[in-house]
Amino acid sequence: MKQFRQYLQPLIILIVFEAVAVTLWLTKNNIFYLFNFSYIGLSISLGLFLFINKYKYARRIVQLLVGLYMLVYLGLICRENMQIEGFWYYLFTGVFEAATIHYAVAKIFGPLVFGRGWCGYACWTAMVLDFLPYKVPAHPRKKIGWIRYITFALSLIFVSALFLAKVGNIERIMFWAFIIGNIAYYGIGIALAFALKDNRAFCKYICPITVFLKPMSYFSLIRIKCDKDKCVGCGKCKRVCPMDVDVTDNSRSRKNGTECILCMECVRNCPKEAL
Ligand code: SF4
Ligand code: SF4
Ligand code: SF4
Repeated sequence: MKQFRQYLQPLIILIVFEAVAVTLWLTKNNIFYLFNFSYIGLSISLGLFLFINKYKYARRIVQLLVGLYMLVYLGLICRENMQIEGFWYYLFTGVFEAATIHYAVAKIFGPLVFGRGWCGYACWTAMVLDFLPYKVPAHPRKKIGWIRYITFALSLIFVSALFLAKVGNIERIMFWAFIIGNIAYYGIGIALAFALKDNRAFCKYICPITVFLKPMSYFSLIRIKCDKDKCVGCGKCKRVCPMDVDVTDNSRSRKNGTECILCMECVRNCPKEAL
């Protein structure tokens, strides 16, 4: 029974993704959705399974499997702009296709179940940033998180302007916006990581998608909890957390609670198995 219970989390993830895969396949009459969401669900569940079996690079494997698939296959080969501009674009055109579905599942409603799992296991920007040397921030968090609202507004203004100006062939512009946007994200993300000695500085201060992710993940079903009876208050969990989360506080309003990317570093490092 205990063995079954420990595999409950990957099982729930797999079921959620399969439910989405089958629903979209049948409602949209497009088998792509079945393959797409099954592949992502399987990759994430595989990672959780490897993690449960204490494989050190479990999360990184998922991140590469999903991140590369999205960046190379969906973005570059299928020419689907999966960045926030692509979301606005498809939303404005009223097309409920890959980018809008992707946002609805991974970044708007999905976080109600799996929090910011996207950020820990799938994002192709963080996939590269996580290779950098500053896995744990060297300095306390800065109060510049407001920048994310500016980048969020700029992305919306950019796409709105294309529509208002009735620019032709927006589809092509969206593809190039995807390429240029990604180069910019990587460039800024890497520079910021070295400047602030924090791999995830881009996620904390710049990324516009966190405007969706943070409020939704506040209510996340899946979250790390602390067993107060086992915890000895050594603080190791906070020292290894890339996102400065106070994971020993079980309340929803814990410090940086909406930043948790479910990377499991705190769980792996807790000497008392209290998490
Ligand atoms: S915060 Fe943004 S850049 Fe960072 S992992 Fe999440 S979606 Fe990716
Ligand atoms: S690492 Fe474990 S024992 Fe130490 S403070 Fe965190 S939860 Fe408590
Ligand atoms: S170390 Fe723990 S609290 Fe911090 S982001 Fe990872 S899973 Fe969340």
